[in-house]
Amino acid sequence: MATFGTLSDRLAETFKNLRTKGKLSAADVDGTVREIRRALLDADVALEVVKDFTATVRERALGDEVNKALNPAQQVVQIVNEELIRILGGSQRRLEFAKKPPTVIMLAGLQGAGKTTLAGKLAKWLAKDGHTPLLVASDLQRPNAVTQLQVVGEQAGVPVFAPEPGNGVGNPVKVAKDGVAWAKQKQHDVVIVDTAGRLGVDAELMKQASDIRKAIDPDEVLFVIDAMIGQDAVATAKAFQDGVDFTGVVLSKLDGDARGGAALSVASITGRPIIFASTGEGLDDFEPFHPDRMASRILD
Ligand code: GDP
Repeated sequence: MATFGTLSDRLAETFKNLRTKGKLSAADVDGTVREIRRALLDADVALEVVKDFTATVRERALGDEVNKALNPAQQVVQIVNEELIRILGGSQRRLEFAKKPPTVIMLAGLQGAGKTTLAGKLAKWLAKDGHTPLLVASDLQRPNAVTQLQVVGEQAGVPVFAPEPGNGVGNPVKVAKDGVAWAKQKQHDVVIVDTAGRLGVDAELMKQASDIRKAIDPDEVLFVIDAMIGQDAVATAKAFQDGVDFTGVVLSKLDGDARGGAALSVASITGRPIIFASTGEGLDDFEPFHPDRMASRILD
């Protein structure tokens, strides 16, 4: 995974220096924590997350568990690993299905974040698992969005509910509602509703997304965030949390050259779990997110 390349290298270098030492002095720990702090900040991890992370690592590294360890340096690496898992959300959180189908999943995020692509990925993944998903095209903002979803649906082998000319055009809330009603009627067990994104967070977009949320009462609202977004991750994630109160996060474009900051910040900042990771443009470039595996990739 390209995303964490530099951060991984920096941390590996830090730990290499540490491994040459036997017992660790307070100065060794402070030096190491300072290097970790710099590496995280350079990777665009949000300041509040970096502060929390390094304070905890420092406190634990100065404590008994390290002093008494046979290999103190290795113990510090272990602590960093555990704390990475913690800021990434702890244990894996799976997609939640409604007790009574259909399970309604709404997608939200900035334009270009990867929502429409994700809709196809998710639909294909669910279909492979025996579900009968329906995609709903409620992104009526971008001229090509409906067609794009139809193309993605075709690739995934999953039907798409789109507004008929003259019925619902220009009214994404109505399309979303009609789509969910259609799914019930046709006995689809999952409905995935794609919504509009703008280039920046704006009030009108949030109101629309929030109106759709109220109208369809989704079981999951997935906030799709581009890992390349860097320091804007905090403001964007908070705005979407206030606006649509999402239930989970999808990290997209983890295959790119992002420095990893968004990926490392968003769960901790919003208190919402990362449920999926998107790692390419193809419909199969997608996987459930495991905090422990991501932490190992960073520290490998
Ligand atoms: P939307 O505006 O949020 O619906 O975003 P799209 O789904 O249209 O994606 C925007 C662009 O990002 C498209 O060119 C996608 O092919 C690309 N894209 C989406 N997800 C990924 C990913 O995980 N990795 C890479 N490299 N590209 C992606």
